[in-house]
Amino acid sequence: MREGLHKVVPSDDTIVAISTPFGRSGIGVVRLSGRQAESITAKFLNSKDPLVHRHAAVGLWMEEGGSAIDEVVTTIFKCPHSYTGEDVIEISAHGNPLTLGRIVETVRGAGARIAAPGEFTLRAVLNGKMDLIQAEAVRSFIDAQTDAQARTALLQMGGALSKRLLPVKELLVGIVAQLEAGIDFADDDVEPPDAGVIASRIQIVRDELEELQASYSYGKLLSAGLQLAIVGKPNVGKSSLFNRFVGANRAIVTNVPGTTRDVVSESVSLGGVPLRFFDTAGLRETADPVESIGVERTLETLSEADLVLVVVDSSAAIDDRDRKILTRIENTAHIIVANKCDLPHAGNSILDGESKAILVSAKTGEGMDVLENAIREFLGSRDKTALESVMTSARQYESVMGAIRSLDKGCAAIVQGTPHEMVLLDIYEALSELNELTGDVVTEDILGRIFSTFCVGK
Ligand code: GDP
Repeated sequence: MREGLHKVVPSDDTIVAISTPFGRSGIGVVRLSGRQAESITAKFLNSKDPLVHRHAAVGLWMEEGGSAIDEVVTTIFKCPHSYTGEDVIEISAHGNPLTLGRIVETVRGAGARIAAPGEFTLRAVLNGKMDLIQAEAVRSFIDAQTDAQARTALLQMGGALSKRLLPVKELLVGIVAQLEAGIDFADDDVEPPDAGVIASRIQIVRDELEELQASYSYGKLLSAGLQLAIVGKPNVGKSSLFNRFVGANRAIVTNVPGTTRDVVSESVSLGGVPLRFFDTAGLRETADPVESIGVERTLETLSEADLVLVVVDSSAAIDDRDRKILTRIENTAHIIVANKCDLPHAGNSILDGESKAILVSAKTGEGMDVLENAIREFLGSRDKTALESVMTSARQYESVMGAIRSLDKGCAAIVQGTPHEMVLLDIYEALSELNELTGDVVTEDILGRIFSTFCVGK
């Protein structure tokens, strides 16, 4: 077990959970992990096949009284060559929640306890099978809604981000050693390390961390998706544009709209990034109570949007209502979409010259590719290989930011001639941020934040 971790979560229990989703299916899996997993299985499994590491045994799962619950296929993974690093048993039964529940009950009755959310993965971390970044990636992988999300999560599960951090940590440990040696042997007339050299070594680490930190802007989009709002006065074609967009792109989730005046949202995937669209009720001021709720929601949506598509009608003159909306979104990232370009152009100044309005027709589809490209541009054109070690969680981002801050302090201190003992504190601080990031040092708070969001059985 990793140093430090066992203090946080001491548990010698054998745990059990249904690892497949609730409901009826061809197969349902019950998973056990812990020291008693094998002996408990031996008690209930009636099979001619022996329980051999990585082999399946076919047999009947028996109740205490002697009657069969189900015919099952049981696979054993012996410690330490399993997901959790402990003895793991996976029982594949028929996917009937009642049957699966009865199997769990027999196991529980024999001394196991129900696993907490994410406890199998937590144990994998505790036993050094993966670090915290990889554990987070397991969750992201299960939650992934687009191919790009799944690909990035898979790379992180394989340790891509952790591997990138390893040399950074080694560099920091090297700086610590250099500073410590200068302090320890100061009495022996050993020259203290040159401040300029130390500062430039700190800078190398900082640059690397800064690059990682920058990857979060894309990682965040990748994991949380881009919030896109469509606004404009009535009848400019917002709904048509929304439908055209959703129709042209693979829809992920559909939220049933409340009323036509409500905010309708739908997620589609653009270049692997989930786009969450909000088709809104418009921004007109109104006395109608239902409509005013719609307007309120629109304003709320606007404040949360990463990007706003402002739709105007290119066949009609821009009026005060359009201008009001345009003024309102002035300070928000936005794209002006001049819809209905299949109709004669009204010669609006906003659509001419240097204006960045994009001419489209929701009716014919004309210009939709240009609009998509503009959104892609906003997302940032990313090199696929750069996805390998992208940071995807706020926790990861905070740790790296903390490390950068400490390094900046240390760097400033050493340049100013501050005693190296003091500089060391900053370097240690940076190192501890990175250790927290990978889980080499963990607190209950961090474990709570990560594993509470897991499903039971993972
Ligand atoms: P919203 O109130 O802004 O959501 O507007 P709608 O999408 O409901 O469209 C209002 C009207 O404009 C409908 O009659 C649409 O058929 C029409 N419309 C929408 N987009 C276009 C377009 O690109 N060209 C033309 N000619 N008509 C459009």
